[in-house]
Amino acid sequence: MTIALPGISVDVGLLELWGLKMANLSQSNAEWLENDSRYLAPTYHRCFEIVAERAQGAYLYDVEGNEYLDFTMGIAVNNVGHCHPAVVKAAKDQVDKLIHCSAVTRHTMNIKLAQKIAQIAPAGLDCVFLNNSGGEAVDAAIKMARFVTGRPNVIAFTGAFHGRTLLATALTTAKSHYRQGYEPLPSGIFHAPYPYCLRCPVSQVPGKCNLECFDVLESMFNHQVKPDSVGAILIEPMMGEGGYVVPATGYKTENGYMQRLRKLCDQHGIMLIFDEVQSGFGRTGKWFASEHFGVIPDIMIVAKGIASGFPMAGVVSRKELMDKWTMGRHGSTYGGNPVACAAALASIDVIEKENLLENTTKMGEYFVARLNELRKKYSFINEVRGLGLMIGMEVSDPSGAPDGQFIERLVDECFKRKLLLLDCGIKNHIIRFIPPLNVTKSEIDKALAIIEEALPAAVGARGGAGDKKTDKDKDASVAELVS
Ligand code: PLP
Repeated sequence: MTIALPGISVDVGLLELWGLKMANLSQSNAEWLENDSRYLAPTYHRCFEIVAERAQGAYLYDVEGNEYLDFTMGIAVNNVGHCHPAVVKAAKDQVDKLIHCSAVTRHTMNIKLAQKIAQIAPAGLDCVFLNNSGGEAVDAAIKMARFVTGRPNVIAFTGAFHGRTLLATALTTAKSHYRQGYEPLPSGIFHAPYPYCLRCPVSQVPGKCNLECFDVLESMFNHQVKPDSVGAILIEPMMGEGGYVVPATGYKTENGYMQRLRKLCDQHGIMLIFDEVQSGFGRTGKWFASEHFGVIPDIMIVAKGIASGFPMAGVVSRKELMDKWTMGRHGSTYGGNPVACAAALASIDVIEKENLLENTTKMGEYFVARLNELRKKYSFINEVRGLGLMIGMEVSDPSGAPDGQFIERLVDECFKRKLLLLDCGIKNHIIRFIPPLNVTKSEIDKALAIIEEALPAAVGARGGAGDKKTDKDKDASVAELVS
């Protein structure tokens, strides 16, 4: 690589030989941030005030050359780590051959990708519609369900996040913040309580209840919406932005929540849709989180981890259902773009060849065990939970209320020590750990060492045991604005 300076061009390797750091040649974070604020719409909030220049594996580097251990992975997108060489090569090779042809002709790459997805998806889900983002795919899935069933209504869940298109916004109740200012939202959408055991929505004792939260869902058919007018029930098989919640923990039995949901949908001819945008593509140690429950949806929505950062998403269903969504009723200019398909195929290949599902399970268990050791030490850590490397750590204040301010301080203390973490949950009171699926034990140990050092610092700023939340929760803190 060469760099052009006024009148000369210099080889970067030479510069480095002379001991000059690349980063010294570029502008500082502060200079970039000034232009960022000036020219980019402020509505697009970013979590950390640094400007990324490059990233590799589990590490991200800013324009000043600072190295950060990244346990956010671009919000659960870079599942095989930043810039995996196989993904980079596949995308580069594809750029030389074919970048885009849209619906004008067919092309080999989306055919190959659809075949591959059909192979790894839960049994029977063997036909794919490709588009570009999670929210777009959520919209497409609901359009498909409405079109195929001829029924207008949809049931989604309180606390869920499904995206930012207008329809996805109407389905989203992770925070009212996402909805406020955009009303009236599309109609025909109803919300049932998500089976979030730690903060049970129907005040039962986790593990000792009869899934009364499911009764609430069923009673909606009497009070709010007739089942024969419901086209779809949409749920995240593991909740993302809403709190990294494993649904109905301890009820993975035959009569568990997901199993009852499947039966309910079958009984009433309702499409069961799983939003696997955040939980999919190996994140939980299986290709898809639904496999942990042994329940197969009618429609599955995928995005994020599918293509290691290239815009790609999809709706996956059974061929016979897809055939009812007749030709020309939906489409996308960029959907199934050849370069994004090449990146997706390479990402899936990496997960297979490098045994990353196995690594995810193993490293996830290790990480959870180590975090549980911290929980024993710090009583305000309520719960460490997760599947694979989709791990949440929830905290409360001395009164038992969700303590978002503490998590904000902890994330900040970790950031100062060069570890990137994200929060989530209604009060931003949960840390979501999202390392790459090829994370090593020593990277987890490094993150834990930082967290162990940051915890006392965050506790110190807590102001003692009497520290009650003043409930001046920031209107829009980190996780509230990202997903
Ligand atoms: N569904 C879930 C579960 C998500 O986590 C997200 C994004 O975080 C979306 C949908 C929306 O995806 P996108 O931001 O790609 O539109």
